Amino acid sequence: MQIFETARDAALKLRPDDPVYCFRPEVLKADARDFMGQFPGKTAYAVKTNGEKLVLKTLAEAGVEAFDVASPAEFAAVRSVAPNAEMLYMHPVKAQSDIRLALEEYGIRVIVVDHEDEVTKLIRVVRALDIDPGSLTVFVRIQTKGHAAYELSKKFGAGPAQAVELLRRLDRHGYKLGLCFHVGSQIQDPDTYERALASADWVRGRAGVELAALDVGGGFPAEYGHDPNRKKPEMPSLDEIMARLRADIVEWGFDDMPLVAEPGRVIVARAFSLIVRVLLRKGRRLYINDGIWASLSDSWTGKITLPARFIPDPAIRNRNGNPEKLVPFKVCGATCDSVDILSRPFWLPETVDTGDWIEIGHIGAYSLSLRTRFNGFYPDTFVEVKTPFDAGSAPEGFASLETMAD
Ligand SMILES: *Cc1c(COP(=O)(O)O)cnc(C)c1O
Repeated sequence: MQIFETARDAALKLRPDDPVYCFRPEVLKADARDFMGQFPGKTAYAVKTNGEKLVLKTLAEAGVEAFDVASPAEFAAVRSVAPNAEMLYMHPVKAQSDIRLALEEYGIRVIVVDHEDEVTKLIRVVRALDIDPGSLTVFVRIQTKGHAAYELSKKFGAGPAQAVELLRRLDRHGYKLGLCFHVGSQIQDPDTYERALASADWVRGRAGVELAALDVGGGFPAEYGHDPNRKKPEMPSLDEIMARLRADIVEWGFDDMPLVAEPGRVIVARAFSLIVRVLLRKGRRLYINDGIWASLSDSWTGKITLPARFIPDPAIRNRNGNPEKLVPFKVCGATCDSVDILSRPFWLPETVDTGDWIEIGHIGAYSLSLRTRFNGFYPDTFVEVKTPFDAGSAPEGFASLETMAD
């Protein structure tokens, strides 16, 4: 992979017509180590956030020893780059053949359930393979209610009474037991984890079984950009969230057992930026070479404002407009699909023109992993960049990807 000091250097040297992902391994390692330093337990990186092998490998080098996986492809990706890493199979709804593959081929011994039929599947596979149930830790995922930018509890998690039943049944079969939750992604309210811990405490008290571990899931917020014309939104920092979580863990009496966290976004968001090219400027519209079916899928990044840096093409000698003035551009994506238009504008200097580049920062989480091959456009070019996106001059623009619905 080619290495550059900055994304600007990469853009001016390569003059890329395809989107280019700028990977910053040092930023990834620093953010992973920062998280591990602050969390008093095991850090299991959530592979779905960004499952690129170079990411998994760099995390293993940074000392991440456990990975939260959800599918056979994720088992294989982790195994291929970090053969000694532990895998935690944390998808609540699984094909029985995948459970078998996890236990038999990959030696996975940590698994999650949130329904009695999932317990039945597990018991069937464990019997068929003649595995000692006491060698498995089975986490029961409980429902939570919170204020994450993306709620996931509507989909997964057992209600408190049901969780009690699941724990008791697993206990009768001799499994080691854990409780887990996942509060959603990009949480904004520091009370969120405490509410989940309170539910976990209630379930523990009712079930009357011994717990071998507590897994607090992911959801830790990453830092993004903000609209410079508006008040910066009040967002708790990771340090604040973590200090609060550590105190809550003690207060609810979970500090005497092994803890697990499954961070994704907070670890990988800052490790990538993306260079896109303006293929055409038509008035206040920019047609770029990426879009909602590739790195900018609105569905997932929909509530986030990304910082953007203008990289003017020096070959353009005459420009119109005021380079100091930020104006909104409607952004049209690369595919022929008429919905491939970002629902919010990019704010960029008035002078932006056909042929210029834009570097979009903090794109590492849920963008590479969500790209599709629709219309034949599949960004897959990577360079390594040494300087963190946030170093140097402040980004002059921002890519506002908020959905219209808000
Ligand atoms: C997606 C997911 C995560 C990671 O969430 P982030 O918000 O990216 O930290 C962790 N655990 C589970 C079970 C998930 O589904």
